[in-house]
Amino acid sequence: MIYGNYIAGEWQDPGASGTFPVINPATGEVIAEVACATADDIRRAIDGADAARAAWAATPAIERSVVMRRAAQIMMDRIDELAAILVKEQGKPLAQAKGEITYGCGFIDWFAEEGRRAYGTTIPASVPDKRIVIIRQPIGISVAITPWNFPSLQLLRKLGAALGAGCPMIAKPAELTPLSALEIARAFDEAGLPKGLLSVVCAPEPYEFTDVIMADPRVRAVSFTGSTEVGKLLMRRGADHVKKVSLELGGQAPTIVFEDADLDAVVVETMASKFRNMGQTCVSVNRIYVHESIIDELADRLKAAMAQMPIGDGLEPDTAVGPLVEPAALEKVQRHVDDAVAKGARVVVGGNRATAAHLKSDQFFEPTLLVGVDESMQVMQEETFGPVAPLVPFTDEADVVARANGTPFGLSAYVFTRDINRAIRVSEALEFGTVGINDSTFSAVQAPFGGYKESGLGREGGFLGLDEFMEYKFISIGHVG
Ligand code: NAD
Repeated sequence: MIYGNYIAGEWQDPGASGTFPVINPATGEVIAEVACATADDIRRAIDGADAARAAWAATPAIERSVVMRRAAQIMMDRIDELAAILVKEQGKPLAQAKGEITYGCGFIDWFAEEGRRAYGTTIPASVPDKRIVIIRQPIGISVAITPWNFPSLQLLRKLGAALGAGCPMIAKPAELTPLSALEIARAFDEAGLPKGLLSVVCAPEPYEFTDVIMADPRVRAVSFTGSTEVGKLLMRRGADHVKKVSLELGGQAPTIVFEDADLDAVVVETMASKFRNMGQTCVSVNRIYVHESIIDELADRLKAAMAQMPIGDGLEPDTAVGPLVEPAALEKVQRHVDDAVAKGARVVVGGNRATAAHLKSDQFFEPTLLVGVDESMQVMQEETFGPVAPLVPFTDEADVVARANGTPFGLSAYVFTRDINRAIRVSEALEFGTVGINDSTFSAVQAPFGGYKESGLGREGGFLGLDEFMEYKFISIGHVG
């Protein structure tokens, strides 16, 4: 199958500028070729967005919502097909792929309605006969740059907010996983989204894409999800035209398990958070601080739970652990495990590539449990982005909170305790954008999501999500005699 780019409402001839392959990480097979977008293609996408911008901004939000909901329904009607494409390009188990698409479509529905609630306000003036009115307006042309780990969700969340706010969007998916984004374009095209409001350009050379969008003053907002390093680069590049840059970046999430925690809940929640998408999520539990009085018992329980996780192709119905997305990802996971072991950690279970005979590629890594971990090890310093759970002992609350906060990242954190006072105290002391109390699975379209410190800028979803794509205007009305 060969995909062209979707540029300003037209499917590009895929033969025109060469293609790049999309590889199934579970099998090593090429599943599709995708056209490489050129600088001219990207400029055409911006021109198309510029031509469509004013009419969409002027379209009543209730009419915009009809098109958006139709597209979400088309995707939900096609969820089996779309989930299989997602699994093949990215690797996660099929049930998780369906969950991702359902959640993503939930954002389209949410923002279809939020657009109708883009309220302004009036403010009492300081002099008689004056009126102060605040209105919110779409910011203009927006760009989404998305990562490979949630190729459907990350785009749908940004696209819902942009379209709901009244803005066109040009999307650049990750080069490893462009197919889900192109299928999203297909759904919006079929739903009747006016031409120009959405383009999906697949640029295997992202620097060229960045050069074009950052040089064009008509692009007003750039919403990025990905690594902190690239996020910082985009923030710098956005400065020339003072673009609004929203960033959802890396995390290094801590969990703190106090001695009074419900260990059944800890195991269920930690397994879900650690091994969803094989640990390749920005909110994945990466540093598991456990009170020293219960660390052995928790290690035993986690080990038992990890033994129940079949490894395989995500399309197989029983699979709980699929492949990592690319060879470099696997090498990083192995490097982190080896570094921890060299510095004194002990592997309780896992620790290596999975090599069972039924596996068709060498990109599978065993679910791994490490004990005897400390902060000197790479697993504690940077995202492993893989199925590795490091347990670290602690004894003192203030000390563990300081250690949890001792990172440049601040995306998400988790606390397990039955003591409500401690839960409140610790959750408020943690410098993270999301804190789960006895909860590691907090995805919700209605809640704003984002990071503190170097984990990001701005919020996605919830009642704040539209603001990344809107300006506030203050209109001061004087008195004419
Ligand atoms: P990445 O930064 O390498 O790539 C993300 C996107 O940026 C891709 O589309 C890529 O093509 C593009 N890109 C790379 N260099 C670019 C450049 N110079 N100009 C423009 N675009 C460029 O990240 P990744 O490896 O795809 O994703 C993993 C990272 O994403 C992890 O750090 C993870 O924590 C983070 N992440 C964060 C969130 C969140 O919500 N905070 C969610 C998912 C992933």
